[in-house]
Amino acid sequence: MPPTPFPSLDVTAAAAPRAAPLPDTAPAQVQTALCHAGRHPQAHSGAVNVPVFHASTILFPTLEALDAKASAPVRYGRRGTPTTQALEEAVSALEGAVGTVLTPSGAMAITVTLLAHARPGAHYLIPDNVYGPCRHAYTELLQPMGIDCTFYDPQIGAGIARLVRPETVLIWIEPPGSQTFEMPDIRAIVDVARAHGIPTALDNTWSGGLFLQPLAMGVTYSVQAGTKYLCGHSDVMSGTIACAPGAHERMKTYAARLGVCVGPDDAYLVLRGMRTLIMRMRQHHAAGLQVAAWLQTRPEVLRVMHPGLASDPGHALWRRDFTGASGLFGFVLKPVARPALARMMDGLRYYGMGSSWGGFESLLIPTEPAKLRSSTEWAPGGQSMRIHVGLEDPEDLIRDLEAGLARLN
Ligand SMILES: *Cc1c(COP(=O)(O)O)cnc(C)c1O
Repeated sequence: MPPTPFPSLDVTAAAAPRAAPLPDTAPAQVQTALCHAGRHPQAHSGAVNVPVFHASTILFPTLEALDAKASAPVRYGRRGTPTTQALEEAVSALEGAVGTVLTPSGAMAITVTLLAHARPGAHYLIPDNVYGPCRHAYTELLQPMGIDCTFYDPQIGAGIARLVRPETVLIWIEPPGSQTFEMPDIRAIVDVARAHGIPTALDNTWSGGLFLQPLAMGVTYSVQAGTKYLCGHSDVMSGTIACAPGAHERMKTYAARLGVCVGPDDAYLVLRGMRTLIMRMRQHHAAGLQVAAWLQTRPEVLRVMHPGLASDPGHALWRRDFTGASGLFGFVLKPVARPALARMMDGLRYYGMGSSWGGFESLLIPTEPAKLRSSTEWAPGGQSMRIHVGLEDPEDLIRDLEAGLARLN
């Protein structure tokens, strides 16, 4: 299997402060698909975009049609409408999936994927730097049912084979790790999983589904918070589970039994956001690298966690598997008192403080990754920060940060 269908990205200039490269992504087939997938104009009076179907009851014209409703493309609002099906099609085209299951949030895409594999005595493998709510889904939903989990060192690579048990039902992967941005060896982990016949789920939110193609690497489920880059405008909650062949029907049925469904306005907005995903991701990539490289030059900053930087420990793995980087990364400030941090943060002009990311706007928050770990240490020697570089002019973003760092002193 080829490593990736996309041409690889030249990141040789990544460490140069003012010379962030544009990604050489042009995944031509994906670029075109994002414009056309899920659109059926002639089925909808010629309208370019699929209409927003508000529907619960679907009427069948004859008793014969009613009797055959199980095979009807649309049978009941909860089971999907042309609007939600269009979004499923588009995500499947992006992720190279046979089918996609939509959920009302990224968190629910995670819990549904975990729960679908639960059974008495089951054991999960989840990375220790996993997105917090994924950890809590295990500790608060699965653990009380007597289900076991090992939170593995994200740098474990092929060593994960030592943690596999006969009862292991699912291996979770998140590249790069939430808040700390370590890059796991996806291929090594997937090889072990496949050798043992264990399905894998990968949280693909960071890449927007564009810069990493997990299903082509043998992953079973590519899970995303559509809330982030797919939507791209900070106004919708959404989750997606893009499935490998053989996994889709089961996941679709499982989610249907849970009663999972999404609203048509939300589906419409995510689909609308996806039409411009490539242009936005190119800008996030370039501007993110530019800001990251600038932060690296600052005396207030101990280290920058961005796998696209040549100096990052995960850089080689990122180059091997990804065709670009998003606008989200971390850095560590030298130890700083809270009032000084407040002076820096409260005066920022362009960076908002708040949860989530992946919209057009920049964000900056302090983080406490150590609190979300149980088997590995996180002691970087200073204040961890998470930044989302939005679509503003990166020079404006750098000037704003520069003034903020000056207020630290
Ligand atoms: C935000 C996020 C999620 C959850 O998405 P919501 O839509 O907020 O529930 C899942 N994974 C990662 C990596 C995230 O950052």
